[in-house]
Amino acid sequence: MRKIYLAGNWKMNKTFQEADDFLYELGEYLEEKTLRNVEAIICPPFPYLELVTDMAEELPLSCGAQNVSEYKSGAYTGEISAEMLSSMEVEYCITGHSERRNIFGESNSVVNAKIKQLQEHFIIPILCIGEKLEERDAGKTDEVVLSQLQGSLKDIKIDGNLFIAYEPVWAIGTGKTATPQQAQEVHKLIREWLRENYGEDVAADIPILYGGSVKPGNLKELLREADIDGGLIGGASLEIEGYIKMLEIAGNLK
Ligand code: PEP
Repeated sequence: MRKIYLAGNWKMNKTFQEADDFLYELGEYLEEKTLRNVEAIICPPFPYLELVTDMAEELPLSCGAQNVSEYKSGAYTGEISAEMLSSMEVEYCITGHSERRNIFGESNSVVNAKIKQLQEHFIIPILCIGEKLEERDAGKTDEVVLSQLQGSLKDIKIDGNLFIAYEPVWAIGTGKTATPQQAQEVHKLIREWLRENYGEDVAADIPILYGGSVKPGNLKELLREADIDGGLIGGASLEIEGYIKMLEIAGNLK
């Protein structure tokens, strides 16, 4: 049975106490429950990474960062390097999120440099790609997604060390989810591109997550699609009840 990944992207939310409370409850759940085919990944803000990595030592939980510097080390005030993340046992890092691309102006070449930094330190990048509403309406979804893949993965070798998240920008934080069919069409396109560029084995192995208003009410239908291997979940990962519900849904999937 294929593995399902549920990555909670907390974005810039939660106080330290709120993060601690959430993780305490998640810890209690994970201690009791055996999740066979599901991997829970929490991507908190930087100051709370250690809360998650500490728990990940004892429990079936993984820790992801939300961002990383494109630079190695040195005079880059406010930046966090891949080496720092790796020294804290962080396993994953989101790159190319549409909020980073659109609010902070990150280009494909910056995303590419970040992926290279992460791979050097054995952290798995979760590369986000996805079209805006006007691009979808203009029939440019495939073109946009393929050019983000090409630009972000330029000169990058893949050896079981990359996740991709398809996140249509119009579905992020808007309550509008892509239908399972819309999502599957793009996931299939991504898988085909990986096959052409990296071969059959790599294409089959890379988890492709869907992101965009995933919640307990729509997760099951999305996960039933052949090329959807999990979710990158923002809003609905902030409430412990909802996140646990999604772990249950994924765990009970036949
Ligand atoms: C995200 O943070 O990547 C995301 C998809 O957010 P939301 O689930 O809130 O749409």
